[in-house]
Amino acid sequence: MTHPSSDPRPVRLRAALDQVPGYKAGRPAPARTDLVTYKISSNENPFPPLPSVVAVVQDAVANINRYPDMTAAEMAHRMADTLGVDPDALAFGTGSVGLLGQLVQITCDAGDEVVFAWRSFEAYPILVALAGAVSVPVPNDAEGRHDLDAILAAITDRTRLLLLCTPNNPTGPALRTAEVEAFLRQVPSDVLVVLDEAYLEFVTAPDAPDAVALWRAHPNVAVLRSFSKAYGLAGLRVGYAIAHPEVAAALRKAAVPFGVSHLAQVAVVASLDAHAELQERVDSLVAERTRVLNAVTAIWPQVPDSQGNFVWLPLGERTAAFAAACEQAGLVVRAFDGDGVRASVAEPEANDRLVEVLQTFLAG
Ligand SMILES: *Cc1c(COP(=O)(O)O)cnc(C)c1O
Repeated sequence: MTHPSSDPRPVRLRAALDQVPGYKAGRPAPARTDLVTYKISSNENPFPPLPSVVAVVQDAVANINRYPDMTAAEMAHRMADTLGVDPDALAFGTGSVGLLGQLVQITCDAGDEVVFAWRSFEAYPILVALAGAVSVPVPNDAEGRHDLDAILAAITDRTRLLLLCTPNNPTGPALRTAEVEAFLRQVPSDVLVVLDEAYLEFVTAPDAPDAVALWRAHPNVAVLRSFSKAYGLAGLRVGYAIAHPEVAAALRKAAVPFGVSHLAQVAVVASLDAHAELQERVDSLVAERTRVLNAVTAIWPQVPDSQGNFVWLPLGERTAAFAAACEQAGLVVRAFDGDGVRASVAEPEANDRLVEVLQTFLAG
């Protein structure tokens, strides 16, 4: 027998990995002596955690030698009451990104297709490729909206999953009720349609869909929500899906056992208790978004509407230059080279600075 180290062949990894794009996480803003810097690249909530949430998490630390409640019973019941759904219809995951991975796993064998609008959430093509499935990206229209007719036209015999992101990260617009209803009537009933509502709490458009009503009306619809953005719990990794019981049960089968920590579970319950306080924060972020969008559209009318806690600047070839100008001004934004820049709505000073940098950049 030869000694293993004399065998030069590398470990065999799945060929599917070659198709997996790397996830580019937002960098922390580098500290500077001349000005306060801001990371506005990950759509995080700029407010610190609520004191009541910090307190329950601190208490819960005393139990971290134990596994969490795998059924997340208290959190599940509180969420079910809040939403007016049966607890059977809920599945929790390590962030809604965790659930997105589970959704691909429960629907796709190798070679099956997942259709989504593009540009959209960067995690979609990564999770699809990791599962050995095939991404079918469908370009957004000129206003950064999903082209639902083109998405319908992209459905084939191999399509197992459709991902709709509303409001769309990073371009901003939310879907409209009438268009989604018409769309759902035409999707084959055996294809799962996911409405990714990570930014739901920031939506103010009057014609935005009621995803829970759509879920009730369509056995092939599931809704995805996150505690990372409006709730400000990004670091605790917890999100949920509202799905029909068979789909929710499949999602639970595909979950990392005990993935949602006890700290995350108590933080969610405490956040539901602090609803009014959180709502004030969301309202102030929405007011800031309106302020930023008004200032931006005054100098650049074509900028798309945003219903999330971010704005999209479709700068095309000038994307990298604008990101560099932001960096100079102490702002770390998310640049998608050759396409555009996404900037999170953050502290008023960061928002003011973003508008100033854009004004100077467009004038130059
Ligand atoms: C941020 C985000 C998520 C999920 O984030 P988690 O922190 O994993 O809950 C999901 N979808 C979209 C579109 C997002 O922008």
